[in-house]
Amino acid sequence: MRPPSCARSLALALAIAVGAWGGAARAPALEADGLTRSLSPLPVTIRYEKRHRRVADRVGEICAEEIPRLVGEIGLASMTPIEIIVTPDARRYDASLMAEIPTWGVAFAVLEEQRILVDVDRATRAYNSLDEVVPHELSHLLVYQRVPRVRMPIWFLEGLAQWQAQEWSLVDSWQLMNAVWSGGAPRLRDVSWSYPADETRAQAAYRVSYAAFTQLFAEGGGFERLPEFLADIDRTRSFNDAFQDFWGFTVDDYDVYLHDDLQRKYHSRLLVFQTEPLFGIAAVLFLIVIGRHIIRSRKRYREMEE
Ligand SMILES: [Zn+2]
Repeated sequence: MRPPSCARSLALALAIAVGAWGGAARAPALEADGLTRSLSPLPVTIRYEKRHRRVADRVGEICAEEIPRLVGEIGLASMTPIEIIVTPDARRYDASLMAEIPTWGVAFAVLEEQRILVDVDRATRAYNSLDEVVPHELSHLLVYQRVPRVRMPIWFLEGLAQWQAQEWSLVDSWQLMNAVWSGGAPRLRDVSWSYPADETRAQAAYRVSYAAFTQLFAEGGGFERLPEFLADIDRTRSFNDAFQDFWGFTVDDYDVYLHDDLQRKYHSRLLVFQTEPLFGIAAVLFLIVIGRHIIRSRKRYREMEE
């Protein structure tokens, strides 16, 4: 698999909701030196090995800081228990996930079991990873709590999770622009029920999903309408029906609109870039700043691991 083009993209792409397999919930065995921490009054339990105590501390801090906002943004009235496992290898921790999750994943939300697996080695390797993947996976579990009975398109859930985790950056705008320009940006209909297995194509799918979700609410009256929309989906038990009632057009209409809009918007921006040398210089300076920030963050997480 091709290595990621930058660490920021790695963090963006490596959060995936897994909930499509059957089988009864089960409690995996604790490691020999496994520890458990409750974040009471939040209904969150973190399980970790002693050597990963600092990572577990940080995960706990992020939960305490972010959960009240995440819950409020989706209008979840009362939260049910969530378990977070900090593990050296998520795929080996839960063998049933081996076939379900990509090898490049950092953290995974197991919806039906309301469990998040944080792959500690990968999560501390990439820039800002924990600060993004923990809220991202929490979003998946909390949205599942809010709308448990309706299957929703992946582009909507991934766009929502990225918006809640505040993952977007100018680098992502740049990558999305390049994907649109090169024809590598998928249509919504192609990322409704599955995502590309290939990492680079999956990254493009995440970015299109973010654009689709945020544009829908930004142009449709604001993000404060999200709880109302989720309530409609829960009530009608159909994403497509609720979508048409709520927005006044179908999901297919929106797919066409978004495709045309991205083409128009990003093609014109690229033309500006090609004809304006100053814009190019600004972009290079920006990438230098980002690069320095990545190096500093990696150092911080290396220290956390020691
Ligand atoms: Zn996700």
